[in-house]
Amino acid sequence: MPFKSIVKKYCRYFDVTDPKNFTLQQWYQIVAEGSLELIYSQPATKPTESRHVNYLSMEFLIGRLTGNNLMNLGYYEQISDYLKQYQVELVDVLEQERDPALGNGGLGRLAACFLDSMATLGQNATGYGLHYQYGLFKQSFKDGVQKESPDTWNRDHYPWHHFNPSKTRNISFGGKIKHIQADKYEWIPTLSIQGKAFDLPIVGYKNNIIQPLRLWQADSDQSFDFDAFNEGEFLTADKTIVNAAALTQVLYPNDNHEAGQKLRLMQQYFHCACSIADILDRHLTEGYPLADLAKYQVIQLNDTHPTLAIPELMRVLLDEYSFTWDQAWNICSNTFAYTNHTLLPEALEQWDQHLFEQLLPRHYQIVEKINAIFHDQVSSKFGEDAQIWKKLAILFDYRVRMANLCVVTCFRVNGVAKIHSDLLVTDLFPEYHQLFPTKFCNVTNGITPRRWIRQANPQLSDLLDRTLKQDWTNNLEVLNGIEKYTNDAGFREEYRNIKHNNKIILANEINKTLGLNVNPDAIFDVQIKRFHEYKRQHLNLLNIIATYQSLKANPNQDYTPRLFLFSGKAAPGYYLAKNIIHAINNVANIINNDKQVNDRLQVAFLPDYRVSLAEKIIPATDVSEQISMAGKEASGTGNMKLALNGALTVGTLDGANVEIAEIVGEENIFIFGHTVESVRDLLSKGYQPKEYYNQDPILKNAIDFLATGKASHGDTETFRLMLDSLLERDPFLVFADFDSYRKTQEKIGIAYLNQESWLNSAILNTARLGTFSSDRSIRDYQQRIWLNR
Ligand SMILES: *Cc1c(COP(=O)(O)O)cnc(C)c1O
Repeated sequence: MPFKSIVKKYCRYFDVTDPKNFTLQQWYQIVAEGSLELIYSQPATKPTESRHVNYLSMEFLIGRLTGNNLMNLGYYEQISDYLKQYQVELVDVLEQERDPALGNGGLGRLAACFLDSMATLGQNATGYGLHYQYGLFKQSFKDGVQKESPDTWNRDHYPWHHFNPSKTRNISFGGKIKHIQADKYEWIPTLSIQGKAFDLPIVGYKNNIIQPLRLWQADSDQSFDFDAFNEGEFLTADKTIVNAAALTQVLYPNDNHEAGQKLRLMQQYFHCACSIADILDRHLTEGYPLADLAKYQVIQLNDTHPTLAIPELMRVLLDEYSFTWDQAWNICSNTFAYTNHTLLPEALEQWDQHLFEQLLPRHYQIVEKINAIFHDQVSSKFGEDAQIWKKLAILFDYRVRMANLCVVTCFRVNGVAKIHSDLLVTDLFPEYHQLFPTKFCNVTNGITPRRWIRQANPQLSDLLDRTLKQDWTNNLEVLNGIEKYTNDAGFREEYRNIKHNNKIILANEINKTLGLNVNPDAIFDVQIKRFHEYKRQHLNLLNIIATYQSLKANPNQDYTPRLFLFSGKAAPGYYLAKNIIHAINNVANIINNDKQVNDRLQVAFLPDYRVSLAEKIIPATDVSEQISMAGKEASGTGNMKLALNGALTVGTLDGANVEIAEIVGEENIFIFGHTVESVRDLLSKGYQPKEYYNQDPILKNAIDFLATGKASHGDTETFRLMLDSLLERDPFLVFADFDSYRKTQEKIGIAYLNQESWLNSAILNTARLGTFSSDRSIRDYQQRIWLNR
């Protein structure tokens, strides 16, 4: 173990005679470097004969790596013990690490969990992403309003990546096409940008497997305009003509929404072109012929963001390696697979045809030909039907539709939970399904138990270790072995104490951050996720207001003490979502300062939601809010993390909630609200939110609380945006589900009073949710997609 010698080296480096004098920041640097040495002194793993998975994603929300890597290497205890001689706690050292926030939310976190699982299962894989200089913005609140500031995540001093100069590429843009002869063309671009590779090690769990996450960075000689950022002009239209070399400076802060700007299209192409070149290089270096690409490589597209990899691979095969169209198409259509993450129309990527053509003329030409050939295929199946073609076309109405390009090309298209995969076929792509019935499949998302149980919840992990007497960390199905301990008094006592301890730890964190004293015996009711109308944080808020009003009207009623906890960011340009955040903060302020209720009702909003904060909240949660409008949340993964850590879900029959409900049993989950079918019914009859408002006095009072300025110093305009949207349209049926949600929340308050049966349900949630390990997801990908052609 080279750790001791590294400590010695750093004594000289920092000019410190006794390690006792190191600061925590210095210890962090030492521990990170020590782990790096451990990692790269492992013998290299040899590639197996199975297909190499190239996971292309614009986002990887990897979280802190040091603790995770030490654990996966099997050195966590040793280093922790070593530091104790200097009175240093490893957990405090690990707190020094900044999260590289290179993703928005669930999609980026999924990519990170999948890399962890592929390394753990020994699936050959390389992750390909972008090395943004500014990750997702940092969030703070001023008078309840979200403020954004740049997150530099200290890229220059980040210990976990290294520049890999042998992988540098030149990527071209713009220009024109020269016709050489017959179907032979040459692209003559006008602009070339260098792509530099930064590699991070992905460490498998105790199996000596290390594989790269390769992040591409464009070289820049122009600095980022901070003033524009702070004035809120961040990435607005007139800022898109930036120095092309500054391409990878910012991550677009949209979750489930497409911005459609030139810089974003350039980022996408840069990402795809660097990655395709690297994949081909590796394939050829390993000695395989290009014609066998699909046999040895699969390229998994994490949503449509990396779709340009398709025309890029076509271009390289056609123009650089002189394959015929049919040969190139055959390779492409057997190499690419596409994961769909959303049915929301505003999130389905479409590019302006002229922008696309201007930036990537040769790729546009290739897409045109794919579109033309596909048109013939559609005509021979459906006849010349303009309505059908309007839906299936890749090029239509001067737009390039990326999801359609994916479905036409890829050998598999998967949704991310059963209900979502079904809706994909019935609602979004029914005609595609008629054309290509075998392309579609489901792989329900999962989460890595290494981070979300072992690292986030060490006390629960210890109890599971002692009870199960076998390693569950990479074999999560064995968790059902604790089901028989639901009757074991000792086990129950320990499980209960662990939740309580975790709540005390979180209460301290809340106190440190917000100066708010919360009651650890209250129900910790948690909604942590990106802010979006479809996720319906405002439904949660309306119930909180109604509860407050009820307690004020009838102060002596029985009410189980409850802490409502929120965390999450809204995209800077999504004013309605920011309005909801503002309303929650203002209502929290009123409730927390009202002595008549704040012994029973409290609201906390922790700023700057990120992976490391999620790790602190999740083990302390009693109630997990998964209250999206049915049909809108593709899967969700927060729901899995929380339930595995013993939270009971209050949720709609949406995304993976459906599968969670099936597996834990209806007595261990709180399901409410409209279903996909009843939503459809309601909308087809002409939904009138005002009717609910006029007929339900509880709802009316809660809305009026905001409308009459009671949470905004008498100003009746502050929450106009949110209120008008709810009263006039309510596109996500907040009013229609309010009554059902409110009654379910009352039931939860009563259920919690029976501590024994609540504990039973919590234990059963942990015991039965093993199938939501991302290891299971990866095995499903192997069976249904990667190995099965
Ligand atoms: C898991 C996770 C998400 C996804 O949460 P959902 O509730 O599924 O939307 C988003 N952000 C972070 C930091 C996460 O860890």
